[in-house]
Amino acid sequence: MGVQAVPADYKRFIEKKVNKMLRLQQRLDTKYEQADDRELVDIITQSKKTLGEKIVILGHHYQRDEIIQFADKTGDSLALSRYAAGQDSASHVVFCGVEFMAEAADILTGDHQKVILPDLGAGCSMADMADIDSVELAWKELSQLTDMDSVIPVTYINSSAAIKNFVGRHNGAVCTSSNAGSIIRWALGLDLKQDIKGSELVREAKQQGKKVFFFPDQHLAINTAWQMGFSTSDNVLYDPDLEFGGITKENIDTASFILWKGHCSVHQRFTVSQIQYFRNLHKDAIVMAHPECSNEVIKAADIVGSTDAIIRAVASAPKGSHIGIATEVHLVNRLANSYTDRHIECLDPILCPCATMNRIDLPHLAWIMENLTNGVVHNQIVVDEIIKEGARIALDRMLRIV
Ligand code: SF4
Repeated sequence: MGVQAVPADYKRFIEKKVNKMLRLQQRLDTKYEQADDRELVDIITQSKKTLGEKIVILGHHYQRDEIIQFADKTGDSLALSRYAAGQDSASHVVFCGVEFMAEAADILTGDHQKVILPDLGAGCSMADMADIDSVELAWKELSQLTDMDSVIPVTYINSSAAIKNFVGRHNGAVCTSSNAGSIIRWALGLDLKQDIKGSELVREAKQQGKKVFFFPDQHLAINTAWQMGFSTSDNVLYDPDLEFGGITKENIDTASFILWKGHCSVHQRFTVSQIQYFRNLHKDAIVMAHPECSNEVIKAADIVGSTDAIIRAVASAPKGSHIGIATEVHLVNRLANSYTDRHIECLDPILCPCATMNRIDLPHLAWIMENLTNGVVHNQIVVDEIIKEGARIALDRMLRIV
């Protein structure tokens, strides 16, 4: 009996696993595992003092408070990478975020700077939903259904460097949750200076005949398209586990958006019933939601925006108001502690944090920092030069189109 061929789906599954395993977190010395919080805080404080300007620590908004206290700069992934790129005197950038953020920082910082992720297990489940092999296969499959010259790939910054490279080399761009609208208008061939909205914008976009292939978050794309005036019938979902993504020539012909079937495990937890419950409790309720939430949640919210937009909206909300927020709980709790004259709550009663971001803790940061004082660099994130080249093209487009 001949050897049975390995099914393509299974091969893809194994490749994904192997790719993930390439960056493995080593076990920490017992010293760091057994130290109490006070000892770890002392190690980090002392190491930071010793390293001085040679080091910069970045803390994403979703990080734990015990890590944020050491951050030289807090912000979203883009703001932090930009900041790192401007810190020329820092030879080491300790990125307390997740893997794709550290990769973006390595792409944007100078050759003399080393980017470090304190725990290599800090990935992003959404970014992992679009691996490069599946995306390349999808591109090939779709080329049998439509003219790919009219398809512009756009990737959310929450994606691997390999996907950014792919997008850059196929004339596409990266976007953030703040500028997704402008990037999508650009990709659809619309004049960014022209002030059109709703049905006029949709008509103009259809005349241009372009389609956007958006990775990896379906919700950011659906919500941005909806805010521009498109309807759900303008979208098709590409499911990487199905042949041809489960898409037919008929549905791709009429679509303006091909959406990768990915989502954020934190933001998909928010529901319309949580919002209704909060509104029933508080007559003056203000509901804010991140665009990685589902379209139903976005439609039910009062304010929709990126983490920075949510922070600004909380700052300008009336004192005494009740604010329910659909985003990661560490950021919401920090806002609640900063604005004690407003009543701020996370809308998810389970208060689920971003599990991967949460892997960065005091023992890992202390281990990284103390070793740096001895000249030992652990967990450097290095993006291959060839990947950097294409990724820079996509990131530069994003920076030009704001
Ligand atoms: S909150 Fe969601 S998108 Fe952000 S890092 Fe965590 S899993 Fe990824």
